[in-house]
Amino acid sequence: MELYRGKSVFGGIAIGRLHIYSRKNLQVKRERVEDAEAEVARFHAAKEKAIEQLAELYEKSLTAVGEANAAIFEIHQMMLQDDDYIESTENIIRTQQVNAEYAVAATSDNFANMFAAMDDDYMKGRAADVRDISERVLLILSGQEADCVVTDEPVIIVADDLAPSETVQMDKSKVLSFVTVHGSTNSHTAILARTMGIPALIGTPVPLDASLDGRLAVVDGDTGQFYVEPDEQTLAKMQQKYDEMQTKKELLQTLKGKESVTLDGRKIMLYANIGNYKDLSLVLENDAEGIGLFRSEFLYLESSTYPTEEEQLKIYRAVAETMAGKRVIIRTLDIGADKQADYFELPKEENPAMGCRAIRICLTRPEIFKTQLRALFRASAFGKIAIMYPMITSLAEIARIKQIVEEVKAELTEAGVPFGTPEQGIMIETPAAVMISDKLAKEVDFFSIGTNDLTQYTLAIDRQNDQLDEFYDSHHQAVLRMIEMTVQNAHKENIWCGICGELGADASLSKLFLAMGVDELSMSPGSLLFIRKIVRETNVGEEGEAVKAQFL
Ligand code: PEP
Ligand code: MG
Repeated sequence: MELYRGKSVFGGIAIGRLHIYSRKNLQVKRERVEDAEAEVARFHAAKEKAIEQLAELYEKSLTAVGEANAAIFEIHQMMLQDDDYIESTENIIRTQQVNAEYAVAATSDNFANMFAAMDDDYMKGRAADVRDISERVLLILSGQEADCVVTDEPVIIVADDLAPSETVQMDKSKVLSFVTVHGSTNSHTAILARTMGIPALIGTPVPLDASLDGRLAVVDGDTGQFYVEPDEQTLAKMQQKYDEMQTKKELLQTLKGKESVTLDGRKIMLYANIGNYKDLSLVLENDAEGIGLFRSEFLYLESSTYPTEEEQLKIYRAVAETMAGKRVIIRTLDIGADKQADYFELPKEENPAMGCRAIRICLTRPEIFKTQLRALFRASAFGKIAIMYPMITSLAEIARIKQIVEEVKAELTEAGVPFGTPEQGIMIETPAAVMISDKLAKEVDFFSIGTNDLTQYTLAIDRQNDQLDEFYDSHHQAVLRMIEMTVQNAHKENIWCGICGELGADASLSKLFLAMGVDELSMSPGSLLFIRKIVRETNVGEEGEAVKAQFL
């Protein structure tokens, strides 16, 4: 078995044979020509044919991947009609008295290098598009057709890189997954893979050896792992993961679009937990009614330095816009404990879980906090964003947060920067917060219970210590009673209360949470439809008291 690690652009499991995709290698020779005008005419004819092909591709992809993704082929048509591109090619043919192929290849290199040197990530990505359109013209000039994957059974495509046109031209029913050695997450190929909903990895250092062709492999789009000729145990594990995925998909068909409401009419909001923009496809696929926890610290962990206000704004805005009016709860950074980023230069601690983490960092280093708050307030002008503060233990912390928020709002107002009015809530994940939840409820818009940390701090058991797994009991009566108390105190002040820790997806407790009156459950997207099923099969009036007596 060989194991490679890539960067995932879409999750899921694919098991199948490999197909090494290699682009037709166009050897472009520089040849002197007598009749430059004839070459210019050849170039124009090839360009026109390429535009026709792109128009056909556009139509084909409209149904396959939707208008937004098909748009790239319109852009490609426009790029081929671009005056600069055409003039540069004509100019090379005329001044150097060379063949059209050479002029197109030279123009392609010049333009691609120019785009690649730009600062803007989007413009950088256009380098691949210039090469893509030029290659199409070159194929036509050489009398060849674009390479397509022709196989009987569906395969895992392995390639150095894939151009958007290559990706979309592949017969979707024959492609299980894409694995590429190069490529960027901004590329249209990555966007197309996400839209097609198939596991895809980029930046996977796999040797593009023809001997790989036809070998059995597994792509785990969730972890970024790529197994070639997996051993029996790995294959069995991956097959099980795949089967679970299929079961969930079947459920999805029946429960998608249905309300999360009990038999006796109690509604509950079923939201998704995410750590990244890339998780959004799963959120939509699993019909989440909102995002209950966006762990924003992952943006910090993926970066080698503090993400800027603009970088954060771009992501928060994109999430809010994609969720199209549904609530998106973004938690301010919860760095510290097990989530360490070197550039924060946090001092080494004896008990990191009880140390400088989350809101404690934000309140002691307000410049970091303010950057994030500015991005969040600005993004909230583009959708229904709510801000959530982690690891709260006191009213004094809330007062300091409010003061900093007021400073941020004043700064934005003074600078004339628009911002929205997000709801602001807190995580209830320390016993202290539970015990003063009656008072905290008067100060915030909502509560979300973090049962992972609440269990850790209530039972005094390090959640990271696997030696103590048997003692880490999140069903402990103390934890469940704290949840009940928090919900009751929230409701007394007419605010809503959810659960975003792992218990939110614990099917054995769903009926209890309904009986307690929990308003929202937030979980990894893949669990949502199972929980919706339980909700729809529950009668709180009939079952509530018995289930409470069982657990509390
Ligand atoms: C929790 O503690 O339950 C929670 C949701 O936060 P995290 O797991 O990120 O600490
Ligand atoms: Mg927590």
